[in-house]
This record gives sequence, C-alpha cells and structure tokens, in this order.
Amino acid sequence: MTYLDRAHALKDKLIAIRRDLHEHPELAFQEVRTAQRVAETLHDLGIEYETGVAKTGVVAYLGEGEPRLALRADMDALPILEANDVAYKSQNAGVMHACGHDAHTAGLLGAAMILNEDFAAGKLKGTVKLIFQPAEENADAEGKSGGQRMVEEGALNDVDAVIGMHIISTLPSNEVYVRAGPFMAAVDTFEGDVIGRGGHGAYPHEALDPIWLAAQVITAIHGIVSRRINPTKQGVISVTIIHAGTATNIIPESVHLSGTIRSFEPAVREQLHADLEKAFAVARAFGGDYQLQIIPGYPTTVNDPKIAEFVRAMATDLVGAKHVNEADIHMGAEDFSFMARAKPGCFFNVGAKKDNMHRPHHNPNFDIDEAAIPTGAALMAEAARRYLIENTK
Ligand SMILES: [Zn+2]
Ligand SMILES: [Zn+2]
Repeated sequence: MTYLDRAHALKDKLIAIRRDLHEHPELAFQEVRTAQRVAETLHDLGIEYETGVAKTGVVAYLGEGEPRLALRADMDALPILEANDVAYKSQNAGVMHACGHDAHTAGLLGAAMILNEDFAAGKLKGTVKLIFQPAEENADAEGKSGGQRMVEEGALNDVDAVIGMHIISTLPSNEVYVRAGPFMAAVDTFEGDVIGRGGHGAYPHEALDPIWLAAQVITAIHGIVSRRINPTKQGVISVTIIHAGTATNIIPESVHLSGTIRSFEPAVREQLHADLEKAFAVARAFGGDYQLQIIPGYPTTVNDPKIAEFVRAMATDLVGAKHVNEADIHMGAEDFSFMARAKPGCFFNVGAKKDNMHRPHHNPNFDIDEAAIPTGAALMAEAARRYLIENTK
C-alpha cells in the first residue's frame, strides 16, 4: 500500500480529529486544549514529545540520527464568528478555524501515524521532527509569531530541512501546488494618525478637517503601487482600518488609519515604507500633521529550489503528474518563512475546495473538502520517507 492508500484508510480518524479541533478553536498562543489533543494522540502512538515549545507548541521526534527532516503544522484559529451550519460548528463563539489549521494539525498527526508504523517496523532510518506550532495568524505582545518563536528557541537547529503544507479552500480539492523560489509575500502593518484641528461641522474654515486630510492621504497611498513601484515588481498597500468622529456636527481632531503592506523584494519593501511616509506627509501640506508606525511582520517565504523540486517529484510519484501544478505566487504571508530562512525549506499547497462553492480563507463561511486531509497527511509522510531514504549516506 502506498502512503496515499494508508492515509485514506485513516480518513475517518483524521476527520474526527479535525472536527474536534474545529469545534474547539483557540486563538494564537492560547492553543492549550489543541496542544493537549496533539500530546494525547502522540502519547497513544508511543511517540516522544515536548509541550510548551514557543509557549503553546508541541514538538515530537520519530527515529534518531541523520538525516533529519522537520514537518510543520500550525494550530491556531481566528477571531471570526462561524456562519456555517454544520455538526462540527465552532463551540467557542467568535473564534473559528477559518484558515484550515485544524486540518493541518490533523494531517500532521496522520503523517505521524503512518511514519510511526514504518519506524517501528525498522523500514526508516533517520529523524523526523514534528513541529506543531502555535500562533501563525498573530504575534504576541513582543511582536513575535509562533513560527518566529520556534526558530528563535532553536526548533530548527537539529534538522537539515523543513517542509510545511497549507490547504487552500479556493483551489480544486486534492490538487497539489508547488513553486520553487519566492512563493509568499513579506508582510508589514502600519498604524497612522492624520492630525488636524477639531471644530464645528458648520465652520470647517475655523478647524482643519482631518477627514479631508485623510482623504488626500488615502488617495496618495493608493497611487504608490501604480505610480511609484516598478510595474514588473509585486507590492500592495491596503488601508483596512479607518476611525474618526463622534457626532455629525463635530469635526474630529484626528483620523486613525491602519493597514497592510505586502512585497517580495527587500528594495520594494523599503520603497513602500518610504513612500507610505511621504503619503502621510501630504497632511502637512495643508498645515496638518501625522504620526506613522510601520510594524515589521513576516519575511518573504522563499522555497529552496532543491527542496521544492524534491517535493514536486515526490508529489508527482504519489498523486500523479496531472494533479501536481505550478503554484502561483501569493500576496498572502506565512510565518513558515522564518523556518525556511533558518533551514532549506518548502511550503506547498493542497487544494480543498468544498461543494464547488466560494469559501475563502478568513471568512465566516470558510470550510474545506475533508478528503484533502488524508491527501495532505500522505504528502507530508511521503516527503519524510523519501527524504530519509534519499539523504542516507
Ligand atoms: Zn490564515
Ligand atoms: Zn493559514
């Protein structure tokens, strides 16, 4: 039996784990119950593990010695009220697994089940490190995400390479997508205030309307990518939060603007930051002022060409060439990027579109075709098996 057959034989078990996690989602760095479920499953398999890694993460080892590969899954959910009317609907109101990290956790446990059997039977030599990381979606008070903390705590120090997978609810189910080189964007966020002078809504000339100033600032921001960045490069700035005002007859003192900045190349990233500063400075042309803070987020996710080609070849043999696709680059960001900077890595996608409906990530209607869970588990397990075999000296 191939790992694909063996993973699909575990389908009901993996779906049960996914649904249990889906019903009990936990936000970044609060994955206590989730980590407990992971630990219990590893314990039942007789796999050694450590909890409390990167705060609420779990790491486990299969086998020993070289070669050494890490497989990574993320475990956190999002602050979204689930709209799906399903038996496994979130019971934690306002928190939802709307990115599929429940499926990643279940899938990596599935890979552990398969690999564990083969290690026990003496069929595999080397080490597979299982990384169940917390907090992919958000950072803690120190501005660090789970993947960043894992790397800083040395979780990648004792491996040679790392592989991660994300299911994608908008791509055809069970299709595999791989790309070598830069794959997902770098992300930074900004928090800004456009400062005017408050007053009566009927006497704008006696005040300095910050809403009018903010309108100029937003127009300037929206021109940055189209007019300032080389059209052959990728970048985006989206203003996603705007707050001002208390009453219809009061001109407020200031307007708060915040949003997200995405890029691939360091030079573009720097230019977006510099031009964002200039866009806010438009407020000064009319006598206003501004404050702007740019908060660095995740770096670009860059897949190591050799590991990416290894994953592509492995997937082609496992699921067939017609189901393995060249992935498009994403403006989305991933904190797997920290791991792929620490060691040669590859992050790949598995499609999981459900009922041919549009259920995008980070949306109250997000859901997946659960058949993608065993497929993901098989791909992760097969990647480990092949890596150990091909890299044994
Ligand atoms: Zn997400
Ligand atoms: Zn995600």
